[in-house]
Amino acid sequence: MHRLYQAQDELEAQLLRDYLAASHIPATVLGRYQSAAAGELPSLSFPWVWILEDRDLARAKALLAEFLGRRGEPDRALSWECECGERIGPEFDLCWQCGRSRPE
Ligand SMILES: [Zn+2]
Repeated sequence: MHRLYQAQDELEAQLLRDYLAASHIPATVLGRYQSAAAGELPSLSFPWVWILEDRDLARAKALLAEFLGRRGEPDRALSWECECGERIGPEFDLCWQCGRSRPE
């Protein structure tokens, strides 16, 4: 087990865990509600995402960087990337760089 990332909240931790799982890296979320079972106030510590297999760590760190980078970007879901590498806004059907049309 290896600690990868301290998330802002439970949701972010779960999103990251799912993101890693999609790349077949088993991960788990720990550090939440640690003492709630003992009848105390829930722990205020933020949840940690842990990598189960140490050998996945390098790949997990790369995915983490991707995950964090993607989060800050505007929603580009409808824009598209041309074969020439140019990213085209959603309102265009033709590449302004090379003239190819939007792939189906
Ligand atoms: Zn193009």
